[in-house]
Amino acid sequence: MNLDKLLNDIPKTDLHCHLDGSIRPGTMIDIAKKDNINIPCYDLKNFESYVKVPEKCPSLKTYLNKFDIPIKIMQSYDNIYRVTLELIEDAAKLNICYIEIRFAPFNHTTKLTANEVIKAALEAVKYGREKYGVISNLILCAMRHEPSERSKELVNVAKDFVGMGVSAIDLAGNEADFPPEIHKEAFEMAKHYGLHRTVHAGETGKPENIIKSIKLLNAERIGHGVFAFKDSSVVEYLKENKIPLEVCITSNVNTSAVDSYKDHPVKSYLDHGIIITINTDNTTVSNTNIIDEFNHLIKYQNFNINDIKSVIKNSITYSFADKEDKDILNLKFSSFINNIEDYN
Ligand SMILES: [Zn+2]
Repeated sequence: MNLDKLLNDIPKTDLHCHLDGSIRPGTMIDIAKKDNINIPCYDLKNFESYVKVPEKCPSLKTYLNKFDIPIKIMQSYDNIYRVTLELIEDAAKLNICYIEIRFAPFNHTTKLTANEVIKAALEAVKYGREKYGVISNLILCAMRHEPSERSKELVNVAKDFVGMGVSAIDLAGNEADFPPEIHKEAFEMAKHYGLHRTVHAGETGKPENIIKSIKLLNAERIGHGVFAFKDSSVVEYLKENKIPLEVCITSNVNTSAVDSYKDHPVKSYLDHGIIITINTDNTTVSNTNIIDEFNHLIKYQNFNINDIKSVIKNSITYSFADKEDKDILNLKFSSFINNIEDYN
């Protein structure tokens, strides 16, 4: 089987992709020059070290430092529109047919309102679908270190965009110091308004955060969930309750959540019957893309073609796309699979 060609051509998804962590470095330099934003250097090669991590950094906290420049760049309508559209263009080039793009609107409000920030990204989502044929939805992130009032404010802004391209809210940021329950009320409100919920949990060694996120925050999916293995009751709970994990293997190697690609528990979770989806987290910060992620899984985790098919199928099934879009995606995926013998 011509696996490289198959991996390129197979319709793929990305349910866990941070916009601010996935901006083209060249675009950041370009915007910095245009808007007189101070960045440490203006040549691409040297600049990359400020927005990409080496394969290993000591912790999630260090990893999160790489978002400082992207956040400075994303403070105008045009810039947010541009980086969103470019992310969709990059997705299209890799045959990603569906992407859920996430960011924290309140990180971009030095000049804009959160409402304007969301509108800028949504305009790109709409045009990206027309121009590149990629279906996208937005996931809006509440930040763990911010007060609960802020996450409730986020839900109040997000609720006006339900059914218009904002599909869900998320809880992101420093998991080690801020447990999920701080934001319980905001997530209850989100459920009430018809917003889906996903939560970063079990990314930094605390499996109990996974259960708290599901039970207290009504999370329908879990971002990462790497550390579920530390508590077998968590593994069983995820399986029994069909709570999918948004796995981002390179990011987990980067943040030292796992020692290496080989040490990641993803294949054991998949074989155990947990619903697994495969995602990038941050294409720029982690210096990856969805095809690289699959290649790592094949090389280090013994993923075979059936595993790949099943995780993509899971992503479509458990995406936050509406029924009509899921039908389109399922059709696209099944017609590709029906002709897969062309790759033998
Ligand atoms: Zn993430």
